[in-house]
Amino acid sequence: MTDTALMSIPGPVDPVPVARDITPRADGRVDLMGVSMKRLIELFGNAGLDPKQAKLRAKQVYHWIYHRGVTDFDAMTDIAKTMRPWLAERFVIGRPEVVEAQHSTDGTRKWLLRTADGHDFEMVFIPDADRGTLCVSSQVGCTLNCRFCHTGTMKLVRNLTAGEIVGQVMLARDALGEWPKGSMAGLDDAEDAGHYSSDGRLLTNIVMMGMGEPLYNFDNVKAALRIVMDGDGLALSKRRITLSTSGVVPMMARAGEEIGVNLAVSLHAVTKEIRDEIVPLNKKYGIDELLTACAAYPGASNARRITFEYVMLKDKNDSDEDARELVRLIKQYGLPAKVNLIPFNPWPGAAYETSTPERVRRFSEIVFEAGISAPVRTPRGRDIDAACGQLRTAAEKKSRAERDREAAAAA
Ligand code: SAH
Ligand code: SF4
Repeated sequence: MTDTALMSIPGPVDPVPVARDITPRADGRVDLMGVSMKRLIELFGNAGLDPKQAKLRAKQVYHWIYHRGVTDFDAMTDIAKTMRPWLAERFVIGRPEVVEAQHSTDGTRKWLLRTADGHDFEMVFIPDADRGTLCVSSQVGCTLNCRFCHTGTMKLVRNLTAGEIVGQVMLARDALGEWPKGSMAGLDDAEDAGHYSSDGRLLTNIVMMGMGEPLYNFDNVKAALRIVMDGDGLALSKRRITLSTSGVVPMMARAGEEIGVNLAVSLHAVTKEIRDEIVPLNKKYGIDELLTACAAYPGASNARRITFEYVMLKDKNDSDEDARELVRLIKQYGLPAKVNLIPFNPWPGAAYETSTPERVRRFSEIVFEAGISAPVRTPRGRDIDAACGQLRTAAEKKSRAERDREAAAAA
């Protein structure tokens, strides 16, 4: 199916993403995944319900979809039995299709997902002792071509819809079995209320660090995260959500004001020369502009610091001098910051090597001694290619024919 225009790839700098609505379904029904309460009321009104009914039903359906994870109208027990087939005739509650689910020896899980119009993208779940982080994709591929990033080498790029973004979180909750149980009527019961805290849950945090640049798909990312943060939706606190950008300066203030989640910035270099090379967007929005935007980021404070991601590339950006310059810049702009040092995850054909562990340690010490937290991120899920920057769908790693043969053999 080719019912959607693919995003053009105009070059390494500042691409214009193609706005995209819900993919039309062959059976004419509307997929409600990713639809806001306001839109739900409109859809029900257009389908013939009077305004009062539309509002009431929207409220119920919204709750069942996003808070309870229900995918079948028949399970919506507080909606009249006769009303349920009426809904099922007109609407569906979809999920991204799972093409492949992989489990790493370290507990990391990776899913290869497919959109209704046949584009593959990935999602990763990383369990830790005190938290479980879901790494969510915002685009199929990425237009930005950072030199060290495998996703940036994908040819096919399109924005994911709000439904495809929130659908990832829904799918993860399905897979982890983490939907609140019981009837809606019991929501206020003390017993049921226990289900609503993050205590004991596996999925506690979300990072927009999968495939793609979230600030080049602002509207859909915002719509999806609004539902994720909504107390009547997935009810995840904005303090547990982090959006990572490679530095789309003009969208940063809006991200803070309109979404309000934690900010991570992929800095990776402290000089124009090196950042121009490894993050080509730097030619458009330079380091000074980027750090000025960070200093102005709404909601940043010592309690909610900005994370600077720094991929450690051997002999490229990992010297003592680089570390000292990083500290100087953070202090110059007065940034409430922490630094995340990411040892480069190599992939076939990459132009860089990983810094030695001693180099990473020394770099971390210099930053830490200046009073800035600088943990080294341990690569997770390496055996299933789930680590940072390795997301590039199996569709492109293996040929389609190869996978069809595998599927046939499995069947
Ligand atoms: N596009 C956004 C978010 C997705 S990338 C961004 O660039 O911030 C998530 C993080 O993984 C970024 O910090 C990115 O620079 C890092 N990354 C990409 N490729 C990597 C690799 N091969 N090794 C280590 N980190 C990588
Ligand atoms: Fe895109 Fe981020 Fe990869 Fe750069 S690091 S190519 S912005 S996904």
